Amino acid sequence: MGLTIGIDVGGTKIAAGIVGEDGGIGARAHRDTPATSVDDTAAAICDAAAELIAAHPGQVEAVGIGAAGFVSSDRSTVLFAPNLAWRDEPLGARVADVLKVPVVVENDANAAAWAEFVYGPAAKVADMVCVTLGTGIGGGIVIDGQLLRGAHGVAAEIGHMRVLPGGYRCGCGARGCWEMYASGSALVREARAMAESGALAAVQMMGVCGASTPSELTGPMITQAAAGGDACAIELLEDIGRWAGEGLASIVTLFDPSVIVLGGGVSAAGELILKPAERAFDRNLPARTNRPRPAFGLAELGNEAGLIGAADLARHR
Ligand SMILES: [Zn+2]
Repeated sequence: MGLTIGIDVGGTKIAAGIVGEDGGIGARAHRDTPATSVDDTAAAICDAAAELIAAHPGQVEAVGIGAAGFVSSDRSTVLFAPNLAWRDEPLGARVADVLKVPVVVENDANAAAWAEFVYGPAAKVADMVCVTLGTGIGGGIVIDGQLLRGAHGVAAEIGHMRVLPGGYRCGCGARGCWEMYASGSALVREARAMAESGALAAVQMMGVCGASTPSELTGPMITQAAAGGDACAIELLEDIGRWAGEGLASIVTLFDPSVIVLGGGVSAAGELILKPAERAFDRNLPARTNRPRPAFGLAELGNEAGLIGAADLARHR
């Protein structure tokens, strides 16, 4: 006994792994995600888990599934998934019926945040905000050692906190969401707009990135150019960091965490994003000179966080 399986269900790939109590990943199994079919997706999840269970007879005590979408507060039903066909899908019961072990379903950003809380830079605190700056902004909030789920399971959708009334229209339908300003997509949008302006600094940045047209620019290219000292790329990351810090000031006003963990592709820029984020945070935190300040840390578990977190949530179900 003592083993749990964590499963990260992405839009194209399903990654499953045996996770020990120390958060280490042992055997792994992968399947493609048949995203348009609810039945085929459930079957692929069961298939990946069954492969691992068969290789560890009698040792797997539970399965945790992390998936992008709204998950019911009892952690069994996917209410809505943006990239998959799930609508009020009783995924937990369906998979448990096949595998004959308990199954916990959790929002993927929550699962990843939980892994950073248990094994990452927030491992020694009780209150944490984890923010994943990727294509969008995901995250999770831990209060007094518990993931904040809300009455319906859909709390902590922090990427859709409004930071600019009347701002850019977001994929969620609202305007001015945080993820339109502090995400990797925002970084790329601004870099391409800058390049299209024809400004000399932007033309130089394109050369450093090895991009022949603005549309070829990517987030990792800009991060690498900034790390090499390119002024335009540094400025673009500073802008993203500033938006990140301003949003974090609002979140900390609500939740007063001990630690803020920054993860996702944008956080690969390290100090180049952390420094401007902390500066903007310090300038915008209400009553900042009269209150303790949370520490900032970078996420440590990378792309494995969702899988590890889902497994740990299943263990402590
Ligand atoms: Zn939004």
